[in-house]
Amino acid sequence: MIMNVYADNAATTKMRDSAVKAYAETAQMIYGNPSSLHSAGQEAKSLLEECRASIASLLGAQPKEILFTSGGSEADNQAILSAARLGKLRGKTKIVSTAIEHHAVLHTLKKLQKEGFEVVLLPVGTDGIVKVKDLEEALDENVCLVSVMLANNEIGTIQPVEEIGKLCREKKVLFHTDAVQAVGHMEVNVGKIGCDYLALSAHKFGGPKGIGVLYARQGSPVYSLIEGGAQERGKRAGTEDLPAIRAMTVAMQEAVGSLPETMKKVTALRDKLIAGLEKIPHGALNGDRVKRLAGNVSFCFEGIEGESLLLLLDDKGISASSGSACTSGSLDPSHVLLAIGRVHDVAHGSLRLTINENNTEEEIDYLIGEVPKVVQYLRDMSPVWRDLQEGKRQYIL
Ligand SMILES: *Cc1c(COP(=O)(O)O)cnc(C)c1O
Repeated sequence: MIMNVYADNAATTKMRDSAVKAYAETAQMIYGNPSSLHSAGQEAKSLLEECRASIASLLGAQPKEILFTSGGSEADNQAILSAARLGKLRGKTKIVSTAIEHHAVLHTLKKLQKEGFEVVLLPVGTDGIVKVKDLEEALDENVCLVSVMLANNEIGTIQPVEEIGKLCREKKVLFHTDAVQAVGHMEVNVGKIGCDYLALSAHKFGGPKGIGVLYARQGSPVYSLIEGGAQERGKRAGTEDLPAIRAMTVAMQEAVGSLPETMKKVTALRDKLIAGLEKIPHGALNGDRVKRLAGNVSFCFEGIEGESLLLLLDDKGISASSGSACTSGSLDPSHVLLAIGRVHDVAHGSLRLTINENNTEEEIDYLIGEVPKVVQYLRDMSPVWRDLQEGKRQYIL
């Protein structure tokens, strides 16, 4: 019997009921423009500021350090471009980041590189984690920004951001962290991390798509990407999407409020799933087993093609991913899998299952039952697998 299992929560999540309700209520009832002087506008304005204060408090920030954006990508862009602009004014044009960042970071850095910035991408170990020592060596007088993600979207590895924050403070270098995968899934506190910027996105924790936050520590430079009205203290023009902001706030309150229980539940499901999939021969878990997001399961299986695996799993009712949603459909294997040392052929045989509190134990059992069958089915048809079995090729995993 086919069971529908949504296991692609790193790509996006189902909106929480509370968030849908908050969205609809706000859209229906609080439709004034927060910039209008009349009561309808002022009512919207005060709700907007209430949301800002709630989100600030959940992150350990001040309300004026919270800037609403269209999502994680915009927040990443704005943080990096702002720090780079100040850097350039001061003659500091080197940026240090990592090889496993999201494209919202990597492509922004590529753009800056074309404008003359020096970009250093730190490697990661086979565990998918950057070494603080490598960062220390890369930091010099010319560095204006360090950008290291909190948790990776493909392999779920958690980076040593607190140590990095400490180092950046010592060296007086701005530090941005892309926390899009982390917020709502693990504890995130800007004071503890010691970051100057942090990006988050509502749709990764049960909020709506198209809304996010840039946290910018007081005093860190913030330049507007979008010119127009004076919304967001002149840092982001455009009428605020109050229904989405309210829904994001409610989703974040709920996610953060239930963190201890959900992390415990989801971690147990994750570990059961990992143990089940590890029984598949010539496969391997990607990224550190412990320093990883509660909901991330990422594997490489030798002798198969990730794309075919996804299609067959979809026929079984399973929504999964290989690499990131943005790289799926392109022929290049994931930059993250290459960064942890997977060779091209192996990186192509990747599977990412990302679960959250909506997934049940029955669904995990279903995944453990179906994934090995589909892998075997594909291997039975694969000339590469035949070569491996006949000894004409060497197994890597
Ligand atoms: C999803 C994601 C983004 C992009 O966020 P959007 O809100 O979809 O723009 C950025 N970074 C990471 C790590 C992500 O997982």
